[in-house]
Amino acid sequence: MDQCRTATIAGILAQLVSTERKATVVDPLPKAELHLHLEGSIRPETAVELAARHGTKISVQEVAARYRYSNFAGFIEAFKWVTSFLRNPDDYALITNRLLEELQRQSVIYAEITISAGVMLRRMQNVEANFAAIREASQTVVFSRIRTNWIFDAARQFGADAAMEVARAAAKLHRDGIAAFGMGGDELSFPAVNFRPAFDFARSEGLRLVCHAGEVGGPESVRDAVDILGAERIGHGIAVMRDKALAGSLATRHVVLENCLASNLATGALAAQTGKPEASLEDHPLKMLLDGGSLVTLSTDDPAMFHTDLLTEYSRAASLGLTDRQLIQLAEQSFSAAFLPPEDKRQLLDTFRAAAKSAGLL
Ligand SMILES: [Zn+2]
Repeated sequence: MDQCRTATIAGILAQLVSTERKATVVDPLPKAELHLHLEGSIRPETAVELAARHGTKISVQEVAARYRYSNFAGFIEAFKWVTSFLRNPDDYALITNRLLEELQRQSVIYAEITISAGVMLRRMQNVEANFAAIREASQTVVFSRIRTNWIFDAARQFGADAAMEVARAAAKLHRDGIAAFGMGGDELSFPAVNFRPAFDFARSEGLRLVCHAGEVGGPESVRDAVDILGAERIGHGIAVMRDKALAGSLATRHVVLENCLASNLATGALAAQTGKPEASLEDHPLKMLLDGGSLVTLSTDDPAMFHTDLLTEYSRAASLGLTDRQLIQLAEQSFSAAFLPPEDKRQLLDTFRAAAKSAGLL
């Protein structure tokens, strides 16, 4: 890499990647990440490589520029653009490799990775072949220290029929490693009730259920995701900061809120929830939710697109005033809330607790 390009990339990263990153007690511990989109982990260098595979020349700077948004619609647009370079199983294998390398670097030992099956289907791709390549890439000996589980995600704005197609694809591949059915995308596009058949079907097939809600939508969107769709975990759910009774009832029902700090800042979700266009990290409800007894996990969502990683998210959480005990609690919750059989979950929790204990943290 020439010096000029190195300097440019360093400049971009200096602006976009957190400068507040400080080590936390969680850094050396084995970790789990539950809200992580495979396609959102495509770093600029990998996007350039993918585009070149399909005859398009783009630069790292162009990708970095596309990865800046002022609102949620801008983020969706960028997601659409970068996924347009994912055209065959080899492309999916490449991004899986790159993501697992990243996770390994951060001592992540368990990850539930969301795959935008809705986008694959819309582009008339072979979902089974793509997933076979993803799974094969994740099972190479290099990544033997990371256990992966997979979630097929429908894009809400594609509507109920498309969501049902995703649920069917997920059910078909349940035995091959799809643990859950989820829904993301534009939360404000269609009401939850439209998707009830897809969620009901997924549940009847033994799949676990997760839904993005209360990210840019209000508390009622979270309520609908739980009451109408039966979501066991909520992607983001930060809208509950505006409804204490709802936060309490979710905690009682063991519904988990998957918080993602950088994401909420980058997409303008936090600004939307707080009504403050200049909302900053200090406005995030993570600490308030934990203090209030909510079940919360911490994740990166789309790490490359939000210029973050899991270690940085914990560092941000620490800067919000979370105590070391609360950071450990967050990390532990990410194992407890996993979509795994109880025995498998217990083993992972034991590994985590043993490491925390030997570090004098438990
Ligand atoms: Zn997400």
